[in-house]
Amino acid sequence: MHGIMNPILVTGGCGFIGSHTVLALAESGWPVVVLDNLSNSSPRVLERLRELGAPPLEFVQGDVRDASVLDALFARHRFEGVIHFAGLKAVGESVAQPLRYFDHNVGGTLQLLQAMDRAQVRRVVFSSSATVYGDPAQVPIPETAPLTATNPYGRSKLMCEDALRSLHQADPRWSIAILRYFNPVGAHPSGRLGEAPQGVPNNLMPYVTQVALGLRPHLQIFGDDYPTPDGTGVRDYLHICDLAEGHVAALRALQAQGLLTVNLGTGQGVSVRSLVETFAQVNQVAVPSQVVARRPGDVAQCYADPQLAQTRLHWRARRSLADMCADAWRWQTQNPQGYDSTP
Ligand code: NAD
Ligand code: UDP
Repeated sequence: MHGIMNPILVTGGCGFIGSHTVLALAESGWPVVVLDNLSNSSPRVLERLRELGAPPLEFVQGDVRDASVLDALFARHRFEGVIHFAGLKAVGESVAQPLRYFDHNVGGTLQLLQAMDRAQVRRVVFSSSATVYGDPAQVPIPETAPLTATNPYGRSKLMCEDALRSLHQADPRWSIAILRYFNPVGAHPSGRLGEAPQGVPNNLMPYVTQVALGLRPHLQIFGDDYPTPDGTGVRDYLHICDLAEGHVAALRALQAQGLLTVNLGTGQGVSVRSLVETFAQVNQVAVPSQVVARRPGDVAQCYADPQLAQTRLHWRARRSLADMCADAWRWQTQNPQGYDSTP
């Protein structure tokens, strides 16, 4: 790259994936503007980014559903493109509060795309999820697998994907990357950025780190009677820094391509038991666990066919499960209360 690059707008840039992506963009020389309403993140993320040498050019505390905030932002900057992370992501909550999920995730995305169109910024990277594959008929899952939704969160992602596909069909000036993430875990190796869930973690890795630290008595393993090698659920865990780099790769690929829909995963299926065993071994710490009933809505196996990301984005996950476990543990021990820990 040469010359001064136009900034990238990152919505949800204070969140788990967003914060690591802001850092990866900075490392690639891209100035970044962050829009986040801080509903599920801490402003201290911005201090940590500054400390790591990646301060955003501007931070706006605002809502992606607010057209006036968006128009003002697009008037102030000439953006190269937008990476859209802002949204709600708790599956159980989406079942209880579907309208709120459609409002933030679908409404927010539509407001953003309209503001982009008004400003003639037509390059966007969208956070989708492997949840759009539902209970997959085959693993590893290729991007061509059938799409379905089993809850309002998944439905909101599918609705956004559909809107983006229609938009691209209607107006080929748009460049759109739909990235379907598998299970991002871990933290930046510095121990300064990581995942800071509010309340009881829904996801496996932050639950494991809290148990290992003694903040929770034991891990509940949701079922050991799945048709998998050890009976526990199998997922495709990928390091958050690999995922962040996948966004930089997608932005680059969009300079030449119109519509990209790719899986971001390692292609390796890992069971709950093997993740827990690897974590305990790598970090030399005990993770007491108990097998309990299956969690409603969980599928037995879900892992990516990661080939297309390699050919289209020239990206593949490089970090190991041991790296994910070591980095998640460093983050947890150095920040026992997340970003509100001292110093
Ligand atoms: P996160 O909650 O840590 O980050 C989302 C950020 O968006 C938060 O900082 C939150 O404050 C902000 N936000 C929420 N609603 C907003 C709104 N209306 N306006 C402005 N800001 C808003 O979540 P994450 O794990 O970083 O996920 C980022 C994106 O990736 C989400 O769209 C999520 O659905 C998607 N995704 C996440 C995973 C995962 O396992 N973490 C997997 C697949 C897809
Ligand atoms: N899981 C578990 N105990 C927990 C949280 C998760 O056994 O406290 C299992 C879950 O059943 C699934 C895997 O860990 O097999 C990954 O779950 P997570 O919620 O992290 O991701 P997702 O369900 O979105 O794949």
